[in-house]
Formats: sequence, C-alpha cells, structure tokens
Amino acid sequence: MGQGVVPGGSVLLAGGLAVTPGGVLDPGWILVTGDLIGAAGEGDGHDLAAPGLEVVEMRGRWVLPGFIDLHVHGGGGTSFTEGTADDARNAAAFHRAHGSTSMLASLVTAPLAELEARAAMLAGLADQGVIAGLHLEGPFLSAARRGAQDPRHMLVPDVAVFERLYAAAGGHLRVITLAPELPGAAEVIRAAVRAGVTVAVGHTDATAEVTSAAVEVGATHATHLFNGMRPWHHREPGAAGALLDREAVTCEIVADGVHLHDMTIRLAARAAGPGRLVLVTDAMAAAGMPDGRYRLGPKQVDVAGGVARLVGEAGKPGAIAGSTATMATVVRHAVAAGVPVPEVAAAASTTPARVLGISERTGALRPGLFADLVVCDEEFRLDAVMRHGQWLSGFPAEPSISRARGPSL
Ligand SMILES: [Zn+2]
Repeated sequence: MGQGVVPGGSVLLAGGLAVTPGGVLDPGWILVTGDLIGAAGEGDGHDLAAPGLEVVEMRGRWVLPGFIDLHVHGGGGTSFTEGTADDARNAAAFHRAHGSTSMLASLVTAPLAELEARAAMLAGLADQGVIAGLHLEGPFLSAARRGAQDPRHMLVPDVAVFERLYAAAGGHLRVITLAPELPGAAEVIRAAVRAGVTVAVGHTDATAEVTSAAVEVGATHATHLFNGMRPWHHREPGAAGALLDREAVTCEIVADGVHLHDMTIRLAARAAGPGRLVLVTDAMAAAGMPDGRYRLGPKQVDVAGGVARLVGEAGKPGAIAGSTATMATVVRHAVAAGVPVPEVAAAASTTPARVLGISERTGALRPGLFADLVVCDEEFRLDAVMRHGQWLSGFPAEPSISRARGPSL
C-alpha cells in the first residue's frame, strides 16, 4: 500500500510487536481505518506515511488483540451481580479500560426471581453493546464444590427453570455453568445446546466418567479449570482431567497467581494447546479497588492483599471468592508463568471469540475485524486500549506511548 491510498482519518500503529494470527510481526504495523483493522504487515510501516495519516509509534511495545473475558462478575467497585444498570456499566467500563474490549457479565447463584431480574437488566445492556452477553454461573451447581457460591439457592437441574432464565436473558445468554453429576443435568445440557448456549462444566464434584458423559451430550467448556472441582487423582482425574482430555472442550483458567500454581498454569496450557485455553478473570467488584469488604451476589467477601475470600466463620479464612484481577493482569501473569505470547493472545482473545461465535468481528489482529486491541510495554504492563478504532480513557496507569499526534487518554 503506497501513498495516497490510505483512507483519511486512518491511524497507523507503527513498528510494534504485533501479535497476529500468522505470528508475531517484529516489527509490524497495523493500519486502523474507522472502526476496523484496515491492513497489517511486517516492517515499521513508515513507508505508509501520508498526509492526514496519524502515526503512533509502538516501538518496543506489544500490540495484542483486545481481550475477551468470558467470566467476570464485576470490577471498579461495582458488579453485575447486584446494584443498578449504571453500576453494571461502571464495571464493564472498568474492565474495558483494562483491556477487555468484549466481556460476558457473569451472575452467581441467587434466588431464581432475582436471577431472572438481573438477567433481564443485563440483557438491556447487551442490547446496547455494553456487554457481549450473559454467563450464568449457577444455579445448577454442586454444594460440595460451591466455592463462594451460595448453596441455599442452588437448584436441581430443571429444563423449565433453564427456559425461564433463558427467556429473561432475551437471547443474550451465551454460557451456563452447571454440575453434570446432578440429576436432570443431561436434559438441561441438551436444552441449552438446542438454544445455542455454551454449556460449561464447573462447581462440580463429578468424576471423569460423568464429566465425559456430559461432553458426549454437548458440554464444551470448562469453568475455571481445577477451581471448584475435585482434585486431580491419578486414578480418578475428575472433571479437570476429563475436560482437559477432550478436544472439543475449551478450558478457562484464572491465571492470577492466586487461583492456580504457575506450574498448573503451564501444564494446563500445554495440555489444552493454543486453541483450547481461555484466560478469564473471574473478577468481582473489588478488582481495581482497595482491600476491604465487598459483595459477590448474596455473599460477603473480604479482600486482603488483593486476595478475595468469603467472610469466614470463627476467624477462619473462607473460600477464595472470585478475583481482583483484570485481563491485563492475567495476561501479564500467564506470560510471566512461561506461556508463550502467541498462545496467551489466543487464550485471551481468539479462542474466547470463537466460543462466543464472534470470530468474524473480533478476536484477532486481522484486516476486516474490529480494531479492538491492547498495547502493552515490554514488561506487559498495559499502556492503552482501543475498541472499535477509538482509544479508551479512564485507566489509572499513565500512558507512556510517545507520539506526535497521539490519542487523548
Ligand atoms: Zn465466577
């Protein structure tokens, strides 16, 4: 592409480490035209310079596809699980500013009427494009592996209940997490698959055999692999083993340095491979906020040193209750743990886009897709976020991109 053919109003991200589906372009350039990626290529891109083309220097910086978080309850002090629509908007804006250019809003187990009301409210935000849809983490879960979920409101799987929740979500229910060992689970899995909803196995005490049977009838996703599941045993690998073993299953991990040992992160990444690993935050309201007391659905959570735990009884620390991570921090942690950068980018963006069925719009630095991207420095600290061709503002880190006519952050 030479002088004169660059459309007006375009932005050239020049000379960065661009993580594309074909590999890392080092250096590489990305041309943003309107809300789309117009072109991308190898080299510093300076030969594209033309009058009216804004050039942003990316030298030494990583340019990654915008992150897509399939499992997030809140952030920035508010959440999807309680509060007003504006509170939910605030949580979404917080995570967008920290790299999640698309996200599902995840609900936790709560009284059915409350779940229906939350689903209806969030469906309105999905209609407006604030979120990419809903994830129901409950209510068909196992009390034995409840984590921070409230066992009082857990229900036995029931197609009629699923249909009520599906209807409340107004066509925006994308993922439902359930425990496949519960009676009636297979019928709900089939109903969800028929409705086009991804079935995730999680908060489950299922054996490997029962989990494999759930995959046979249509489950295709693992909710925070290892967390909320029976521990791996070499003769009974449990849900974690069965889900990792199955090619059809994508596996979420919370790579925040709290939920999993780094060795577990590396082993899961290797076992799942680049097309099946999914990085999620499982973040709650306290993400980006000081230590203190917060809520997660009907439960209270204490955050100390950035680790969220249920308020414990008799001075004992409670179960880990979501995280205070952002997609930017789990990406940084996964890289530090030794997962190769292209695999991290796939797990944070390309694969979750596929799970949501939005790969033709976002999830890679590829011409024709939305210009949804994240800029990080050499150490993978977040520098800037672009969504649909617009730089987003509002994150606390000082942007450090040097630019002549740069974005206003
Ligand atoms: Zn969760």
